[in-house]
Amino acid sequence: MKWLAFAVLSLCACSAPARFVRGGLEIRTFAHDSTNVHLVMQDGNAFLFDSGYEKNAPQLEADVRAAGVDPAKLKAVIVSHGHADHAGGARYFHTRFGVPVVVGMGDEGMFTAGRNEKLCPTGLIANLRARKDQDATYTGSTSDVLVNGALDLKELTGIDAKATLLPGHTSGSLVVTVGDVVLVGDLLRGGIVGSSAETHFFMCDLEDNQRGVMKLLTELAPAAQLVFVGHFGPVTPEAVRAHFVR
Ligand SMILES: [Zn+2]
Repeated sequence: MKWLAFAVLSLCACSAPARFVRGGLEIRTFAHDSTNVHLVMQDGNAFLFDSGYEKNAPQLEADVRAAGVDPAKLKAVIVSHGHADHAGGARYFHTRFGVPVVVGMGDEGMFTAGRNEKLCPTGLIANLRARKDQDATYTGSTSDVLVNGALDLKELTGIDAKATLLPGHTSGSLVVTVGDVVLVGDLLRGGIVGSSAETHFFMCDLEDNQRGVMKLLTELAPAAQLVFVGHFGPVTPEAVRAHFVR
């Protein structure tokens, strides 16, 4: 497990782009305004999981280039869900570089409108930022691929990965399994300090959230060794269980 400890330690240096390498799989995580975007690379192919705020898209383009990837060669932008801090930059990559955008069914309304549905704060920090986050908008557009159920990403991206609808944080939230890791958007978050897993800042049904996390651990990604989240992290499945299994 030494490699895992090393990967976690190096990834938790949260300000710099974090790099995870496991066999032929490489994941770079870029964080702007505390929101993660993951660049997933394998066999010369690459896709983005999430796209950050719209205003940060030029910086994200620079991040992608600095990682050695031509943005025009990105195979997809997979949007974990339609909130402004995750979906806002997708249109930039679609209009400039023709990158197909993948959205989960249920969030296409948010993605078209560029407006967040109702957010439910789960704690003090969320209460403080609730209005600003609720009011965040982005330029709406249409998706190229709508995921209903599950989508094998091999054909679209060239990468052995799978996107699966896991509603909860939003109706159309997606998780992506690739290799022995899983990317989960805002299903949960990492601790602001340290390596804990935490309930996300905004979640309207906490019991449903717990069921979703259990479904992730037992059905969708039972072999996952690392969980990449939308804010802070990544976290281990053990940390997820420590917070969510009661
Ligand atoms: Zn969200």
